[in-house]
Amino acid sequence: MSSSTSQQFPILPALHVAALDYYTSPQPEAAIRLNTNESPLPPPADFIEELKSLLPTVSSNRYPDRYVVKLRQALAEFHDVEPQQIFCAKGSNEVLQCLIMAFGGRGRRVVTFEPTYPMHSHIARICATEVVSAKRKEDFTLDLNEVTRVFLKFDPSISFLCSPNNPTGISESRSGVEKVLECAPGLVILDEAYVQFASGTEYMLNPDSNLTYSKTPSMVDKLVRVRTFSKTWAMAGWRLGYMIAPSYVVDACFKVALPYHMDALSQLAGLVALKYVSQMEQRVDMIVKERTRVKEELDKLPLQVWPSEANFILFKSLAVDGTKLWEALLRRSVLIRDCSTWNQLQGFLRVTVGTREENDTFLAAMKDSLGELEGL
Ligand SMILES: *Cc1c(COP(=O)(O)O)cnc(C)c1O
Repeated sequence: MSSSTSQQFPILPALHVAALDYYTSPQPEAAIRLNTNESPLPPPADFIEELKSLLPTVSSNRYPDRYVVKLRQALAEFHDVEPQQIFCAKGSNEVLQCLIMAFGGRGRRVVTFEPTYPMHSHIARICATEVVSAKRKEDFTLDLNEVTRVFLKFDPSISFLCSPNNPTGISESRSGVEKVLECAPGLVILDEAYVQFASGTEYMLNPDSNLTYSKTPSMVDKLVRVRTFSKTWAMAGWRLGYMIAPSYVVDACFKVALPYHMDALSQLAGLVALKYVSQMEQRVDMIVKERTRVKEELDKLPLQVWPSEANFILFKSLAVDGTKLWEALLRRSVLIRDCSTWNQLQGFLRVTVGTREENDTFLAAMKDSLGELEGL
């Protein structure tokens, strides 16, 4: 027995894992669910029918195409890039994980500009990467002095941007993104989960933008744009995301991705979805119209409401506690997102834009809840 080391049970996880918080998003029962920015409507019935008709072509006893050739080809055509510049995974979160496994890791740093999507820093920590949380300005836009300061001081191998940003709804300015690309020492990951909801002259990194991969290669050989089928495509249940990136980044991600990480059904679903672009755009139009209406209605209440270029709206009550308001809404069976625990967002709430009926129920519950809480 002399050789036995003193074992401790239960066995502890690795230090960086023991230090992690759980990534939580409360999911209590509620009739109206406006908390996770999903599409309120399913994909078109024709899409489902076509997918069903193609099911017999999927062989379940064989492994799927490991290099996702057809879907990457189709996405490359869609974005007018080469298939070697596309990498797909099970949701954009897995794309982000592959990027961090390949370009982050022990001894390296990533930078986030807070407040922003908490999964960027969370996945980095899972991968034992040090996280530098830089601040945005009061109005949640990028502070370019802070950008250059953290780049010089921390030399990050990855810098994250999110446009439109979750949870603020604000798009990064073109000049801001260009500045980051100019001085970032490593990769710049631009999370564009909500890009199809963005419009206006300020936002120019759309699919057909003038900041393309071929025209200005010196600017973009560190730019990685991450997209998802979860929001605009109404396919959160399928778990499908991808990136458009320089081919050396795609190659590195294939090193860390598990073999056959993309199942055959998701590959097929993505391929078929790309035939239904106009239906996706119609759904996005409907949500953008509703977003304008909900924003106008919220503006009439005692709230501070941020303008949004995404399918959600960030707001803060001027009169009552944010978490109390969230609870009052939940008592009325309306579930939204309490952002209180997110960086710099004490008291903030975020509501996903739903169907007209869902939004009406939310707005009525808001008036009711504010009345109840103010009357206390
Ligand atoms: C919802 C969301 C995603 C989507 O993640 P999936 O894994 O593709 O479902 C990615 N980035 C941001 C900023 C999001 O809000």
